Amino acid sequence: MGRLASLKPRLSSAPARLKPAPKVADPFYLSSEWRRFAADMKRQRGNCCEDCGRSGTERGVKLIADHVIERKDGGADFDPSNIRIRCMPCHNAKTARSRGERARSST
Ligand SMILES: [Zn+2]
Repeated sequence: MGRLASLKPRLSSAPARLKPAPKVADPFYLSSEWRRFAADMKRQRGNCCEDCGRSGTERGVKLIADHVIERKDGGADFDPSNIRIRCMPCHNAKTARSRGERARSST
């Protein structure tokens, strides 16, 4: 324990290239079970972004089924109440927001 704690400061200041970010997509999101569920969710919510209302039929608009509480934060995988349909800009804004919240609460 004591050894870990004393290593931490050094680890966090290490150059980014020493801790490669996992570029592999979460296999969960590639599973046919999830794809089918996400497609169902989009259809049920009218195939439009629940944040800004943009339609998935608009050119260049890509909708995704987004976990309200992210899986790594303990959110349910296949619970419709934990799903929000978002276009990419809204999804990115939300991801950035929750990342910031996580950073704040961990300090
Ligand atoms: Zn949107």
